[in-house]
Amino acid sequence: MKEQLLLLVALQECDSHLVRIMGKKKTLPEKIDKLDEAFRTFQKEIEQSKRKYDEVKARHVECENKIKKINEGMIKTKERLLEVKNNKEYQAMLKENETAEVMRGDVETEIISMLDELEKLSILAKKDQAILDGYRKKHEEEKKQIEDDLNSIDADFISWEQKRIELQGKVPADLLNRYEKIKKSSNGIGVISVWKAVCNGCHMNIPPQLYNELQKTSELIACPNCHRIMYFENREKSA
Ligand SMILES: [Zn+2]
Repeated sequence: MKEQLLLLVALQECDSHLVRIMGKKKTLPEKIDKLDEAFRTFQKEIEQSKRKYDEVKARHVECENKIKKINEGMIKTKERLLEVKNNKEYQAMLKENETAEVMRGDVETEIISMLDELEKLSILAKKDQAILDGYRKKHEEEKKQIEDDLNSIDADFISWEQKRIELQGKVPADLLNRYEKIKKSSNGIGVISVWKAVCNGCHMNIPPQLYNELQKTSELIACPNCHRIMYFENREKSA
């Protein structure tokens, strides 16, 4: 391949890398945000059993306090029983005590069913926690990978930019101008490979005569369709 064309191909390689790096710089943080969002959604979803467990647990504590209060009330009633003056008062206190006992029985029944529920929820919550831990580990690894990529991007960019500046200095001004113009109007690709008579930029067929010429000439030939500067690339040889 002609030296000028080789320079352009190398320049194109730099430019394509720089575009890709800039793209990554934008998309990688978005990717991290998406991963975080997905993790948060999963966590919210999977922690339902745990939340339910906490709710029942709170109700359980409430019930225990209720029992404590009932017991305290019953002790007071018993103390007052010692000071009773007449039978009517005595009967009223017995009734009071009876009511308290029934209430206590109801709360105790509630507590028993709660303990059952707590046990089941605790098993579920433990299973879910294990799943969540596994997901968290995977999530953190994935995120770390992206963050590492992101951290190396700036150094990568500077290195490709440096390479580009060096190459640019070797390309004649008019040719560089031509390349930049085509690149600007052709999605950032000014130089394109051709193999088996197909332009890899626009994927159109190159007329046979032009294809022949491309393989022999030292002139720069543009694709008749997309106008990018073409170079012949023998993919069988390079593979
Ligand atoms: Zn083309």
